[in-house]
Amino acid sequence: MPKVLVSGAPLGNLDHLFSRVSKANAKSGPFDALFVTGPIFETANDNEAPEGSSDVASYVSGAKRAPIPTYFIGAYGKDAKASMRAAKAPPETEPPSDASQPNVFYLGRAGAVHLHGLTVTYLDGLYDVDAFELPPPPDAGDACSHHTQLDVDALRKSMRQLHKLDADAKDDQFPPADILITCAHPQGWERLTAEAEVPTATTAAPTASPAAAEAAALVRPRYHFVGGAFTAHARSPYAARGVSHVTRLVSLDASDGAKGRGKHLHALQLDAIPFTAPTAYVVPEGATLDPYETSIASNGAKQQQQELAAAALASTAWARRLEEAEEAETRGAVGGAAGIHLWDQSAATGAASHKRARTDDRGRVLGDIGWWRRGAGVSSMEEAKAHPLDTSRCVVVLGLSYMASFFDVISFFQGTGKQVEKEEEEEELRDGELPSRNGGGGGGGGVSPPVVVEEIRRGTRMDGKPNAFTHVVLADAESAARAVAQLASGHALCGREVRVEMAKERRSTTDASAGAAQGAGAVGAASQGPPPDCWFCLGSPTCATHLVAQVGEDIYVALDKSPIVTNHSLCLSIDHVDNALRLKPKASLEMSSTLARMNAMFAKDDGSHALLFERYAALRHRGGNHCHVNAIPLPASVRCEDAALKIAAFASQGGGGPPRAFQIVTSPDTCATFEDRVAFALETARSSCLGTMNGADREYVWFMLSNGTVLLHTVPNGRRMDLSFPRQAVCALLGCADRADWRQCVASGGPEEETKWTDSFREKLESVAA
Ligand SMILES: [Zn+2]
Repeated sequence: MPKVLVSGAPLGNLDHLFSRVSKANAKSGPFDALFVTGPIFETANDNEAPEGSSDVASYVSGAKRAPIPTYFIGAYGKDAKASMRAAKAPPETEPPSDASQPNVFYLGRAGAVHLHGLTVTYLDGLYDVDAFELPPPPDAGDACSHHTQLDVDALRKSMRQLHKLDADAKDDQFPPADILITCAHPQGWERLTAEAEVPTATTAAPTASPAAAEAAALVRPRYHFVGGAFTAHARSPYAARGVSHVTRLVSLDASDGAKGRGKHLHALQLDAIPFTAPTAYVVPEGATLDPYETSIASNGAKQQQQELAAAALASTAWARRLEEAEEAETRGAVGGAAGIHLWDQSAATGAASHKRARTDDRGRVLGDIGWWRRGAGVSSMEEAKAHPLDTSRCVVVLGLSYMASFFDVISFFQGTGKQVEKEEEEEELRDGELPSRNGGGGGGGGVSPPVVVEEIRRGTRMDGKPNAFTHVVLADAESAARAVAQLASGHALCGREVRVEMAKERRSTTDASAGAAQGAGAVGAASQGPPPDCWFCLGSPTCATHLVAQVGEDIYVALDKSPIVTNHSLCLSIDHVDNALRLKPKASLEMSSTLARMNAMFAKDDGSHALLFERYAALRHRGGNHCHVNAIPLPASVRCEDAALKIAAFASQGGGGPPRAFQIVTSPDTCATFEDRVAFALETARSSCLGTMNGADREYVWFMLSNGTVLLHTVPNGRRMDLSFPRQAVCALLGCADRADWRQCVASGGPEEETKWTDSFREKLESVAA
């Protein structure tokens, strides 16, 4: 796995940078290479250093050697022209170990190369609005401080050559790069981020470059390093279209050793990932959408989305993708699908001799299943079922990564005895590293005072993968209580945050995992009959019948009691059904056609179009959720594509609660009518959420725009659904955050006013042909 360092601008002081690199190499290395994001020369005008004082020339000529092979951009500044005459391009093959040869190379103005097992892309120079469209001055050579459109074109051409693509290959056919280094910040990088993420120095920087943004959009790197602004900060990762990783933008401070510098050296361990186009678009938790993408629905992309959506539904790829999204939900695995690949399983389990390597159909290592007992090793779960589980001293770990082994679980509780060494800030390894919290499975941790794990029982799901939970029996009840007290939440195991709870009594002898299922998922409550005081059951005395606008055979329409906007209404089941996915086929059809009619009514009323959403939370303590889909009229000026992006960005940035991952799927062309699109949205949610664990449903939220764009979020096992989230997302979208509080929206005139709303709505709805 390639291990490299990336530094900020040395500003002429390579001696200092290389001494830091030697130190880092000795402590955390060996590193394969150093990438320097420039400028490499002194640039300050008021500097009093005489000409020729920089040490760059002696390194590029080979008179001095860098501790590890070094590749730089930023070939501008004082002495640049003279020094760059001696500079060499990276060799075709790996750098020679011959000590008489230079090992500091100039990457070039713009391009793409394979180096040390990584695809490295680069764009030198800063942005100057006047110089950008002009050809560079004839005598500038490599030392021009500004890039031009020609440089971006050169990068594109270089990518084509590197990947042996035809001259007419489209940008989105380029495989993504591992690393992009640029001097300039890409223009628009701060879009979709929280304000706190944007240092004032960079907002004022005049050098933010559209060319650097184009480069980033073109190569969709896993890491984008910037060095020209002399400021250290990192952007929230963003999910670029068509790749399964997220991109991290890291700006490094100058590495010249001046006082007060921020982080200027970044260590990186990257596993080369073979590129496969993902099957759906996922924005992992904590990540944002692509800041450089102007619209989700550029024609080609939309068509591709539709094809992908159709293909995804037809295969299990869909379920797999969801699982990855859920995987990405957890702290420490922000990399989404890529985060899974980056976790180095061997580090945690190498010593465990009992380990049988099990992999899924993509070659990823799966965790252990079966019955592990202290001193007895592993046997099958069948054998375990013959032995009663002692729930008095048994805990359940929920939200467990499917890669977790028995060894990981044991060290989570018992610790490994090793203390996690605190790395210096500039030497942290970002990828392949666990959040080093208590019980990370990679060292240290455990319950204190120590506990002893007696047995572990972990079964499989229907598809043969390990359950997302496991029973762990400790030596005694006191140990179990102590483990729950110390590890209940906020602790990572194999990079995922897990919860630890006391195991519940078994509900039946045939269902060994019922206790955990109850704690982890949402169990359908329909079988217990409707709760006596459900607000939405038409027959219930608590139902606000004066808000009911229309009653059909299985479905009825009502006004929302605290409407966000006029005509905000609900489509509900007459009988008490958990959610829209549980509707019988006939009722489901009626639901779709009723919603289509509501959409038509919105259009006729004021040209608006419906945004639908359904959130399903189990609400067991209230007797279970009653199926209801919200319909909100969006003004015609709000485009579906923009609305979808805004909702997903609001969610991934933690608007209205913890950050959430949404999948965005566009319904296929065959869904010509609004009715069809509703059916598609329900089918999308159904295939992901119904009966996923021991027959229990997942909690979820879906939104649907009138063009058929569906956003789906499923609540990971062990997480809670924040009930007000969809309402907050809609209010953020419509720019009326104050109306997120339902109390602001109730009729001031009480039931009388509400009745007027309803009468008006009913009239409008009846005027639309069924
Ligand atoms: Zn009900």
